[in-house]
Amino acid sequence: MKLFGAIEAGGTKFVCAAGTETGEIKERVSIATTTPEETMPEVIAFFNKHKVEAIGIGSFGPIDVDKNSPTYGNITTTPKLAWRDYPLLSSVQKEFSIPIGFNTDVNIAAMGEAVLGAAKGLDSCLYITVGTGIGAGAYIQGELLQGLTHPEMGHILVRRHPEDSYKGRCPYHGDCLEGLAAGPAIEERWGTKAAELSNNDKVWEMEGYYIAQALMQYILILSPKKIILGGGVMNQEQVLEYINKYLKEFLNGYLEFPQVSTDMGSYIVRPGLGDNAGITGGLLLAKRVYEESK
Ligand code: ADP
Ligand code: ZN
Repeated sequence: MKLFGAIEAGGTKFVCAAGTETGEIKERVSIATTTPEETMPEVIAFFNKHKVEAIGIGSFGPIDVDKNSPTYGNITTTPKLAWRDYPLLSSVQKEFSIPIGFNTDVNIAAMGEAVLGAAKGLDSCLYITVGTGIGAGAYIQGELLQGLTHPEMGHILVRRHPEDSYKGRCPYHGDCLEGLAAGPAIEERWGTKAAELSNNDKVWEMEGYYIAQALMQYILILSPKKIILGGGVMNQEQVLEYINKYLKEFLNGYLEFPQVSTDMGSYIVRPGLGDNAGITGGLLLAKRVYEESK
């Protein structure tokens, strides 16, 4: 079976892997995200050692995903200054003359989950991460959603929880969803590490209130067949109960599908591939660009 490559480029680490189109990971390495000068040579060294037919890259963003743009493949307005305007795709392309796909970290995770994970067999799903930031990828009718650019679903506006006076911390929007509900917002609001707030129900009720609003909007606009919730904050599984409760309340019976009533527990789920959703999606993206190149 052919060997494909994947790069999951995150704000704290780059994970590189070589594996198969069935998601079997043969080799993997995790490299700290410091500066491009330090990080990228290690990435290149990995693929010098593990010869692959094609590579799928999923990156933190924002990134330029427009194939017709002169800056296609660049990381754009990231707050990580060392990586601002960094030509991630071309830095790999100039080392290896093989097909290379480029998309967001969450879009490739959605692809991984749709093809081999919790949404296996479905032609659509959303993959949402609630971690240092909030982002979502959308796999819709078998394609990764892209228009003017990639989706930026973490920055939508939400109604405030009646008991929340926290100002929000998005540098662009203050109290957008990410500004109110990502891990760092929880920690600043409550003055404690999110992982240490497990026993404080109010924290997770508020979190569920915000995420449920986001899911309602995503469901009404994109109509995904499955929703997958990943990211560090979702380790607090009690949030799921609040999400379900509020989502039902907000939808108020408007959609008559078991997915949003009796079967919500199997509609909104944790990643089937665990921490491998992104890297598996990268292998699948590699396979796709490989086939397109033939
Ligand atoms: P990243 O978003 O950087 O890829 P994570 O998805 O792990 O990484 O998200 C990190 C954030 O998740 C941190 O801000 C932290 O507040 C939060 N977090 C990590 N573990 C937990 C946990 N067990 N419970 C609640 N929050 C957590
Ligand atoms: Zn924002």
